Amino acid sequence: MPIHKTEAIVLKKFDFRETSLIVHFYTKDHGRINGLLKGIRKEPQKFASSLEQFSHNEIIFYKKSSTSLHLVSAADLRNNFFGIRNSVGRLTSGSIILELLHALCPEEDANSQIFDLSLEALKELETNYDTEKIATFFKIKILALSGFKPHFDSCVSCSDKINGQAKFSVLLGGLLCGRCQHKDLASRQIFRGTIASILYIENNQFRNILNLGLNPQIKKELDFVLNSFLNFHLGKKLKSERVNEYLKESDFVKV
Ligand SMILES: [Zn+2]
Repeated sequence: MPIHKTEAIVLKKFDFRETSLIVHFYTKDHGRINGLLKGIRKEPQKFASSLEQFSHNEIIFYKKSSTSLHLVSAADLRNNFFGIRNSVGRLTSGSIILELLHALCPEEDANSQIFDLSLEALKELETNYDTEKIATFFKIKILALSGFKPHFDSCVSCSDKINGQAKFSVLLGGLLCGRCQHKDLASRQIFRGTIASILYIENNQFRNILNLGLNPQIKKELDFVLNSFLNFHLGKKLKSERVNEYLKESDFVKV
């Protein structure tokens, strides 16, 4: 069994049998993996981390070829991200980030850019008050990096440059030019400002885009476009997104 050392973010953890834990990780070098930590609940001191959700750790694991559950022999805590748990807004946006990593990234498909992006987004979430913006921008970046990228730089059907009013087609996964709009009668008008914001976010570093201001109309449209696209491709609404919508509807104070 080959041994590997890698950085890992904890997505979820479950009790396993009497004394052990199963942890779902997103790792820097191996993508999403499932790890078994034997005896950790009986002897927590065996590991230098309690593997809390959101935490960033360095782990050592043995890769088994016969199963997708790998044996984790060591876990050292790098950052617990305590700050994410101290407000409902941070926790909700953080949960959206973890759930997207689970839903969009196949097991053992390494993508260090997605790992670095996730770590950066979690760090921002600890200190930045605009938690909704972090979740929205993370969605745009992870869609681009995971290969689900909606087509926003030209017409998704004929590849022509978009001149004039574009419509967004969830079904076809991008913008339709005036000549192609009949190909999806459910496509909807979209502001030029929304398209420009998406392209800007896709093409710039996460730490540089957070200063981008969004007017309420564009923000609302971005949420609509991204959530319809995600729901269509995942075949379901994210659990964390349902919680987010409920909190918004009930006008919950978020930070
Ligand atoms: Zn076209």
